[in-house]
Amino acid sequence: MTEPAVDLPDTVRTELRRGITSVLVDTAALRNVRERFDTEQATTLGRYLTASQSPNTLRAYRTDWIAWAAWCTRENRTALPADPLDVAVYLAAAADARHANGRHAYSPATLERKSAAIAAVHAANGLPAPTRSDVVRLTLRGIRRTRRTRPHRKRPILLHTLGELLTGLPQPGWPGEPARRRDTLLLLLGFAGALRRSELAALRITDIHFGTDHTTGEPLLLIHLPTTKTDPTGITEQHVALPRGSQARTCPICACADWLQLLATHTENPRNIRTWIDELPTAEPHIHRCHSYRPDPRLTPAQPLFPAVNRHGGLGDTALSGRAVAEIVKRYAARAGLDPTLFSGHSLRAGFATQAALGGAADREIMRQGRWSNPRTVHRYIRTADPLADNAVTKLGL
Ligand SMILES: [Zn+2]
Repeated sequence: MTEPAVDLPDTVRTELRRGITSVLVDTAALRNVRERFDTEQATTLGRYLTASQSPNTLRAYRTDWIAWAAWCTRENRTALPADPLDVAVYLAAAADARHANGRHAYSPATLERKSAAIAAVHAANGLPAPTRSDVVRLTLRGIRRTRRTRPHRKRPILLHTLGELLTGLPQPGWPGEPARRRDTLLLLLGFAGALRRSELAALRITDIHFGTDHTTGEPLLLIHLPTTKTDPTGITEQHVALPRGSQARTCPICACADWLQLLATHTENPRNIRTWIDELPTAEPHIHRCHSYRPDPRLTPAQPLFPAVNRHGGLGDTALSGRAVAEIVKRYAARAGLDPTLFSGHSLRAGFATQAALGGAADREIMRQGRWSNPRTVHRYIRTADPLADNAVTKLGL
């Protein structure tokens, strides 16, 4: 979320930016330490106090604090210590702020974070939090109640929908072949891997590993997810395993092999791609290609797995954005005669959970592939998939 432009002199802004790191750790305690211990001991303590807050929280608080301080400068109010009424007026105004497209500039969660940032800076300075007062608490409650609407959920893409989307792929051959191969992989990977659009967009060649399923001897695709929404620090790396599909048409590993061959040819020399496509033998869509694929040395590890592809079959150097992933899903939905506004990038991930639930998968199985840590999220998908599952209404004996 970009902050609306605030008229704040650069010097003040820099000063705020510099000040906030020390402001957010317990400066009162630190001052105390400086008086009683030497500089080195104080610095060491300061380092650990700083590390206690996640860089993301710190960054968000910093932005929030600067916005608050700027508002106070404009309105001639005091930022520290703050008058609770000022904080309430500020939050109410922020709740009404809208983007040019008419949408709210801040979600209730962001407004609560803004309030938490103000509280944190006060706490660090040994001051009582103005946000604990009734006027601020009630304002936030009012904002939450006013905004409480049913979450706008996108339709999950179930297996049969996925089949419909795949019928809208461009024809084999030039110039549709690159988009055909890339989008087949994108849709299958997003669905079978329960991947978020941002995760799909961020994938690089180095994240894709071909392995063997030791129980069956069949090929296996291992996807390494370097950073995820729930863990932006990337400390716990996550893997998603994709088995071979029973049909070659919907086999993620075949789709990956097909795409990587084209991508490698293009990487070696973009001018060869058209001839290569023209000379491709007629594909036998029922035969798997996944058994014979070997990693191609022409690909470089840092290459994006999903680069942009233009209408003329040309491949770009940069990765698709998360938004572009969503656009692709919407485009294929429209081609299949479905309302594109009902679908988004998330439809693939939601589709995985819903389809798996319909197939009788247990909660923990769905949570494992989808890397969901909260069973409630998964239960929501399951309830949507089958309203009678685990429901006492079936045991009434009617
Ligand atoms: Zn296959």
